Amino acid sequence: MVKIVLDAGHGGKDSGAVGNDLLEKNLTLNIVKQIGDILKDYDGVEIIYTRTDDRFIELSERAAIANRAGANFFLSVHINSGGGTGFESYIFNGNVSNATVAYQNVIHSEIMKAIGNMTDRSKKRANYAVLRETKMPALLTENLFIDNANDAAKLKSEKFLQQIAYGHVEGIVKAFGLKKKVQPSTTSNTPEKLYRVQVGAFSDRKNAEQLVEELKKKGYPATIV
Ligand SMILES: [Zn+2]
Repeated sequence: MVKIVLDAGHGGKDSGAVGNDLLEKNLTLNIVKQIGDILKDYDGVEIIYTRTDDRFIELSERAAIANRAGANFFLSVHINSGGGTGFESYIFNGNVSNATVAYQNVIHSEIMKAIGNMTDRSKKRANYAVLRETKMPALLTENLFIDNANDAAKLKSEKFLQQIAYGHVEGIVKAFGLKKKVQPSTTSNTPEKLYRVQVGAFSDRKNAEQLVEELKKKGYPATIV
């Protein structure tokens, strides 16, 4: 079992970076929840969140949560600010394991692939508390700039946040060799004969989400279109 701690940067009284009517703390929580949701489809992985709602947690406590859980990997998700554009990732600038470097390499490149034509600000190292105090390989991602109008426009798109989450998942899947859970298949194996079954159309997304949850519980691979 691979234990992964997902850390949504900031929260509560700490909004993180602010710009273009966006708060970093909300974006990081959105992305982290999506990463966790997609990872539910994989075998042999346990997800631990440092927060799943809008609350303040000290940096040392975030690292302590991971250390207490004996996690295999710590992933902290952030949004950048301060004038710039694009994506960058960080590992600790002191002693790190070879695994830490390898995880940064693969996750960084999968995120770059998933988010399309964004500037690659490169793989970096820094003395950040959550990277320094965690006892397992740890990575921190800075996903675009909240105070850059073009980046912020992307961050306002739910679809783009999904792409960011998907990139993180693809990286984690490759880093840890995760395999998709075997889903009960309701279609034949011939790809030219796929029949889509629709079970509901809702004007309220909440209702659609509830139905998807119910179907998933029953083992059907349901999605909202
Ligand atoms: Zn941040």
